Amino acid sequence: MGKLWANSGDSHLVEPDDLFETRLPQDLADRMPRSVKDEDGAWETVYVDGQEFRRRMPKPGTAARSFSDDDGLTERRMIGGRDVVSRLKDLDDEGVWGELTYPSLGIWSFNIRDPKLALAGSMALNDWAMEMQNASPRLVCTAAIPLIDIDDAVNEAKRCREMGFAAVSLPTRPGLSGKVQHNYVDPFFDPLWDILNDMEMRLCFHIGTEPHTPDERTGVVHRGRGGAILNYTETTFGGQRAAAQMVASGALDIRPKLKVVISEGGSGWVPFVADRLDEAFRQHSGAVSPKLSRLPGEIMYDQVYASFQHDYRSSVMALTAGGYQNSMFGSDYPHWEGTFGHTQKTLHELFDDVSPEASRRIRIGAFQELFPHVPQPPADEA
Ligand code: MN
Repeated sequence: MGKLWANSGDSHLVEPDDLFETRLPQDLADRMPRSVKDEDGAWETVYVDGQEFRRRMPKPGTAARSFSDDDGLTERRMIGGRDVVSRLKDLDDEGVWGELTYPSLGIWSFNIRDPKLALAGSMALNDWAMEMQNASPRLVCTAAIPLIDIDDAVNEAKRCREMGFAAVSLPTRPGLSGKVQHNYVDPFFDPLWDILNDMEMRLCFHIGTEPHTPDERTGVVHRGRGGAILNYTETTFGGQRAAAQMVASGALDIRPKLKVVISEGGSGWVPFVADRLDEAFRQHSGAVSPKLSRLPGEIMYDQVYASFQHDYRSSVMALTAGGYQNSMFGSDYPHWEGTFGHTQKTLHELFDDVSPEASRRIRIGAFQELFPHVPQPPADEA
């Protein structure tokens, strides 16, 4: 099997333990996200700005498609999350070239309720992410944008663009802004959409990033029978909602340079949701507001990109059968549920029976269209 190269629309950096301590005044650093694992490693508690979240840790070695715990991958992924030189070596081994990266612990900062802390914390995270991005032209790091105060959001997006960021990340549902629970259709966000469009910064959502209330167990919607499968499946829907909101509200229609990425949620849903949006637009046209300049499904096909890891049925078919050109591979490195350790096997299983054009578009082309400054990957091996 010759080596196939792929860009990744879904990867992560892992913050150093002292990131906030070294970059923020102590009183602010103390309130930034901090993870404490139980002694047996089965659970972790994440502390954020006076809130506490408990979640079960993934169990190494239990992913059937993945890896066993004793092959050294566990340690390598811990190192590669933080060190770019080790990371690039892992990526070269795996055949992953460019990467769109999200923070790990930083994702929890969307739970912050204090605008001052949200801004200072985002700036610290972004300064560190830029140091990582500067270490390799293959990394496209997303800037964390504080969303409580819209002026802060706009200013931080501008600052990050000037620093060299090409993408921002937002949670799939905004947290509280004061006492207000916003939704991405709200005019509140228009100044941010305007500036991202003007600066051609990609608007990226990673699934499972909805802020949680401390009294709900993180990521748990279903209990009892089927819970593990249902809860994992549930995480994908938030990305679909965010994308649908950006389309239906007209936010994308009037800003044709604004491109949305939904990471880790698969891409087979796009043709399906696009059909539903179109049906609503046509069959309920009297109630549709705002009127869009074209079918919402067309807007979604043009301006929404979506990444998947192992979707053997749906995500390749989204392109080959559904005509959706923005389906993108994502490795989810260095996370447990990603393809690290078996990326080549996965790529061959996904693409060996697919036309070279479709294969290349999903592995390389869609990512390149979003981030044309990233160098070309090496040629595939025959
Ligand atoms: Mn991911």
